[in-house]
Amino acid sequence: MNPEEFRQFGHRVVDLIADYRAGVAARPVHPPHQPGAIRAQLPPEPPQAPEDFAAVLADVERVLLPGLSHWQHPKFFGYFPSNGELSSVLGDYLSTGLGVLGIAWQSAPALTELEEHVLDWLRQMLGLSPAWRGVIQDTASSSTLVALLCARERSTGFAAVEHGLDQSRAPLVVYVSAHSHSSVEKAALLAGFGRANLRKVAVDASYALDADALEHAIRADLAAGRRPCAIVATTGTTTTTAMDPIARCAALARDYKVWLHVDGAMAGCAMILPECRGLWEGIEGADSLVVNPHKWLGAAFDCSTYYVRDPEHLVRVMSTNPSYLQTSADGRVTNFRDWGIPLGRRFRALKLWCLIRERGVLALRERLRRDLENAQWLADQVRAEPHWRLLAPVALQTLCVRHEPPQISSEALDRHTLAWVERLHASGAAWLTPAQLDGHWMARISIGALTTERAHVEQLWRDLRAVVR
Ligand code: PLP
Repeated sequence: MNPEEFRQFGHRVVDLIADYRAGVAARPVHPPHQPGAIRAQLPPEPPQAPEDFAAVLADVERVLLPGLSHWQHPKFFGYFPSNGELSSVLGDYLSTGLGVLGIAWQSAPALTELEEHVLDWLRQMLGLSPAWRGVIQDTASSSTLVALLCARERSTGFAAVEHGLDQSRAPLVVYVSAHSHSSVEKAALLAGFGRANLRKVAVDASYALDADALEHAIRADLAAGRRPCAIVATTGTTTTTAMDPIARCAALARDYKVWLHVDGAMAGCAMILPECRGLWEGIEGADSLVVNPHKWLGAAFDCSTYYVRDPEHLVRVMSTNPSYLQTSADGRVTNFRDWGIPLGRRFRALKLWCLIRERGVLALRERLRRDLENAQWLADQVRAEPHWRLLAPVALQTLCVRHEPPQISSEALDRHTLAWVERLHASGAAWLTPAQLDGHWMARISIGALTTERAHVEQLWRDLRAVVR
């Protein structure tokens, strides 16, 4: 495709996306397709001859769009939001279109410097002190893996990178809440700690990590000759948005000389609101933290921001520095290849920069406040309605709800919950996530898509009450 053809079809792609976003509310949130239905519409073999690009775009509209769950839909209440503000989408186009790679500062100086700069903007927006330096990773899963690798090397004095990790004697131990995200367990396994050395610490009545139980577990491991290495605390757990007690965790981390990583993948976005910062009080005592602007904040996926207090340690763990990547600027510049796992780096800072500039901090804050208010409104309705129950505190914008008909056994209640969620999804009226809490099914409603206004939440509440009958 030459630049003129690109101009022609590029305009059509922009039109397609603009039309999609403008009309998304009219689509069913979730496609009615059976597994395999999309592939059945595609030719089994690749074309041998060039195709008209118009035919590709026609297939996007005919086959792919009807086969999507629509995350930007105002009635998308599933998982956590993955908001892609259109300004940020344009930043992503720019990144891809410019086609540059940040494998060293010198390979694309503006790429590195904008990333440093915009992460410092975000640091200020989150209310973090200047002691933090940030880098963009693809996902929180990668950020947490990097954090645990850094913890491992601090505990072993870099012995693990030199000789490999020997967990057969005096193993290193990682502590997480029983409600931490599955990516933390995955990171601990990939970093070589071993499942036997991952402690899932009990939670309190609000589903937040119980700091007394954490200290107890640390002491028990020390007494048994094991080496406490890292705590991963979550600000906003996935099931209920519970807030682990960061200040207590930081004090324990300091006392027992273990690394503290804070997973604020979703709820970290809320810290642009000064009134929410108490939820991660003590954050300055952490060693590393992750916040995903690609969730609630509006940066197009993928844009996970990883902040550390000791970049030198991070670079020492991650750096390999072969001769073909060395440049005369080294020592005076940041080489982000040494701040994470991949060598190649896209110009991801553009989509965060475009988002923050086009919206401004005040408008970003207002949108998040809108969602918090909508969640509190729905929580009030649920509390007031007979046979409906809120199962966890509504710390932010996610509600855990159950409809509990009288005199129903717990097995029948599970079946009832899964059945009405299924009916809701099949109707296309809304999308939410069933999940287990204390061993039983409930419905998790996560409010916060860009387009979700109060009217959509009111409609959801009408739909919920209708569908349980
Ligand atoms: N941590 C928490 C608390 C999450 O809720 C999620 C995903 O929802 C993740 C981590 C994983 O995020 P990512 O997809 O960026 O790896």
